Amino acid sequence: MASLMGQMMQMPLMISSLIVHAARHSADTEIVSKRVEGDIHRTDWKHTELRARKLAQALARLGCTAGDRVATLAWNGYRHLEIYYAVSGSELVCHTINPRLFPEQIAWIANDAADKVLCFDLTFLPLVEKLAPSLPSIKHYVLMTDWAHMPQQSTIANLRCYEDLVDNENGEYAWPEFDENTASSICYTSGTTGNPKGAVYSHRSTLLHAYAAALPDSLDCSAKDVILPVVPMFHVNAWSLPYAVPLVGAKLVMPGPHLDGKSLYELFEGEKVTFSAGVPTVWLGLINYVQQNKLRFTSLKRTVIGGSACPPAMMRTLEDEFGVEVIHAWGMTEMSPLGTLAKLKTKHAELDAAAKHSILEKQGRVVYGVDMLILDDNDKPLPWDGKAAGNLVVRGPWIIENYYKGETSPLVTVNGQQWFPTGDVATIDPDGYMQITDRSKDVIKSGGEWISSIELENIAMAHPAVHEAAVIACRHPMCDERPLLVVVKKPSADVTAQELLAFFEGRIAKWQIPDDVAFVSELPHTATGKIQKLKLREQFKEHRLPTA
Ligand code: AMP
Repeated sequence: MASLMGQMMQMPLMISSLIVHAARHSADTEIVSKRVEGDIHRTDWKHTELRARKLAQALARLGCTAGDRVATLAWNGYRHLEIYYAVSGSELVCHTINPRLFPEQIAWIANDAADKVLCFDLTFLPLVEKLAPSLPSIKHYVLMTDWAHMPQQSTIANLRCYEDLVDNENGEYAWPEFDENTASSICYTSGTTGNPKGAVYSHRSTLLHAYAAALPDSLDCSAKDVILPVVPMFHVNAWSLPYAVPLVGAKLVMPGPHLDGKSLYELFEGEKVTFSAGVPTVWLGLINYVQQNKLRFTSLKRTVIGGSACPPAMMRTLEDEFGVEVIHAWGMTEMSPLGTLAKLKTKHAELDAAAKHSILEKQGRVVYGVDMLILDDNDKPLPWDGKAAGNLVVRGPWIIENYYKGETSPLVTVNGQQWFPTGDVATIDPDGYMQITDRSKDVIKSGGEWISSIELENIAMAHPAVHEAAVIACRHPMCDERPLLVVVKKPSADVTAQELLAFFEGRIAKWQIPDDVAFVSELPHTATGKIQKLKLREQFKEHRLPTA
């Protein structure tokens, strides 16, 4: 017998529907941006949708047609948000470029994506002027500012003014409907190794991901919230917040380039922010500022921290000292990015604080839509016993099948299904809580046993004299590799290598304690703030461990 087909409407999942929804149902809900120009700008969802329509008209007038890439070099702000919707909504592809990359890498990425238009904040005018000769595909340069702030002259011929483009249109534009699998945006991975690779998201993947992101056990977004993404819009679409916030109709606050502790704190307090999101490094600066000035957070209830492992000491400070709930999350550019978040289950309610903490410090459980496995070196699934550590693979409708222009599929086949290898090594406990124990490209294998560099770094970070710490594998004649702790001390802090190593006693198995400590003035970081372990290993290639 033939299947009975469902009789529901066929409506493609379109990114434009999010802003239309917000404009209709949360019309006067505010969008507040700290501008590059230094002032605070206020608008709302209704005007943002109107201006996005005008910008879509302007892009069409510039000659953009379906599939063309429109790139951005921009901070979090209302114009960047308008570009997100105007570009994807009109069947173009929004390519958010990370301005913190090295200039040569930016040019490489823009050329790889064959960007046609580049929209950029005032901050980046000198950079774009320098890069323009090496960007042959870009036909239009749009400076994201008004006439008053346009430069008198520029080496960029025919530099356009964003506000001028928007003002010249009437907004009589109907968002088109097209195949929901059409590309909506591209984000390149941070490039810890080799050339960056592009992840190409679709309207469908973005909408499904936004639904999942807004759920209570995910980011828990509500119309009652005031949400400030510190995570940049060029870092995996600010972890979906530019989509999840209009989906629920919350107030959105954006910090522009002002990411220091003082500016962020003033914006949090001034706009009564309830929820935020960012990488651990951002919180280091904010916590320092708040502690030094003996301040409190009066509205902030919770924050999601991810992108790299959140040090437990940071979680404790935010929760115990400031009453801010920390949601530890794990994901990747290739995963749109959400994969797992650490939230408790009902059955954990009776646990004591220490037991709760040990669950919440993990990377967490998958959101519905993501499936995961851990595999041994022969791609055989390992048990979820919280002990066996293996290569973490994932699948789901917002996880890439291939990279942009990818010639060979990155996927692995397990039990007839295709999975994306994350390059992370993890355990999964019987309740489904995943814990990253290391990265397969950055793992310490001592005498055939895994040592978690993350665990060692977390311990080191809890030492009061340590500002930042990284653990790398160092060659060892007996064990193959042994851990070396590389430390940046806090200004004016004084600590010896012996004292630091003694700090590990009783906190970890004896054989896992680093063999040596190297003090440095700073650690090398990628453009997204992750420690560049490969570079660090290169730096310490000749380091001789005292045990060797
Ligand atoms: P990216 O695509 O630049 O966001 O990098 C993704 C990678 O960052 C992941 O594969 C992990 O190695 C790392 N990562 C992200 N979130 C976490 C986390 N919460 N804990 C540990 N590592 C993380």
